[in-house]
Amino acid sequence: MKMKAAVVTQNSDGNVDIIEREIRPLETNEALVEVEYCGVCHTDLHVAAGDYGQKPGRVLGHEGIGIVTEVAPGVTRLKKGDRVSIAWLFKSCGACEYCNTGRETLCRTVLNAGYTADGGMATHCIVDADYAVKVPDGLDPAQASSITCAGVTTYKGIKVSGVRPGQWIAIYGAGGLGNLGVQYAKKVFGAHVIAIDINDDKLALAKEVGADFTINAAKEDVAKVIQEKVGGAHAAVVTAVSRNAFNSAVDAVRAGGRVVAIGLPPETMDLSIPRIVLDGIEVVGSLVGTRKDLEEAFQFGAEGIVVPVVQKRTLDETNAIFQEMRDGKIQGRMVIDMKASCGCGNH
Ligand code: NAD
Ligand code: ZN
Ligand code: ZN
Repeated sequence: MKMKAAVVTQNSDGNVDIIEREIRPLETNEALVEVEYCGVCHTDLHVAAGDYGQKPGRVLGHEGIGIVTEVAPGVTRLKKGDRVSIAWLFKSCGACEYCNTGRETLCRTVLNAGYTADGGMATHCIVDADYAVKVPDGLDPAQASSITCAGVTTYKGIKVSGVRPGQWIAIYGAGGLGNLGVQYAKKVFGAHVIAIDINDDKLALAKEVGADFTINAAKEDVAKVIQEKVGGAHAAVVTAVSRNAFNSAVDAVRAGGRVVAIGLPPETMDLSIPRIVLDGIEVVGSLVGTRKDLEEAFQFGAEGIVVPVVQKRTLDETNAIFQEMRDGKIQGRMVIDMKASCGCGNH
């Protein structure tokens, strides 16, 4: 049987080739998933461009949702018909100090979907049965796909920020991650939310989904506005793909504040040592979330507390979606509808 997939081009030029490839037989503990939807994350653009090493021929995608159609002999955790995720945390060793202390995304031998393992931007994907997280009933699969990375990453990042109900949090970047970050911060953590972007349309949508106020970083000095208006944020979560946003976040928090770094521009940020020391500022990275975090993030979606903004597209449009993302034109998330993309006539 063959699958259709979006793979990184041979020269890692930031685009994908749409190819057909034979589906290999299942190995121990694996399951075959017929993919329903896969969201396009900005990380896919980084991987396609070789920002963290060239990956020619790799099937992209780590916001996959699909239905299990086959399991390897002995697999009991999943069965045919289950709806599951294909997330960045594709598989970890399960035995090291990170795996055993609730930090499995930091496992040194981890495999990541769409980066070091073939991912979900395809009609089919082979997953490890222990790492595919079940999607709860009542959660729309296209919306679930966007929670699989954008949702869980911001949900976890806000947990890491330590923000408490009634405190102020600044969310830099109101794209795929940021829009969900605003929702989790406001509706789940009970924080007051400031959304920051360089695009007024994204800020308008952030306001619609719960931001208390917004700031356009292209027009105003964000840190100055936040210090003047609320006395500095208690925490900041940075999803923007820009070092300027990281630098601004350090200046936007109040003394004792924490900056959570999530965006992945391949750059360095400036850290004033006196600012860090004298004002007790913390800067910490946060990488996606554990399987448990994803289960929790899904549940808030299933309960309708968090509602991902998604638009359905086809696999053949992947390079066009990438360009729209580079140009900052996407509202919420573009989600590839695999059944509409497959062309096999079997659905
Ligand atoms: P996106 O393109 O949908 O959103 C990025 C947003 O940042 C856009 O709305 C853009 O207008 C805005 N922006 C750009 N420059 C800005 C600035 N100076 N100030 C404020 N906003 C600015 O991308 P996304 O899918 O939300 O991903 C965002 C970043 O997070 C990417 O670098 C991605 O690789 C990374 N990421 C990290 C993790 C993790 O686990 N740490 C997980 C997923 C994605
Ligand atoms: Zn992602
Ligand atoms: Zn491990």
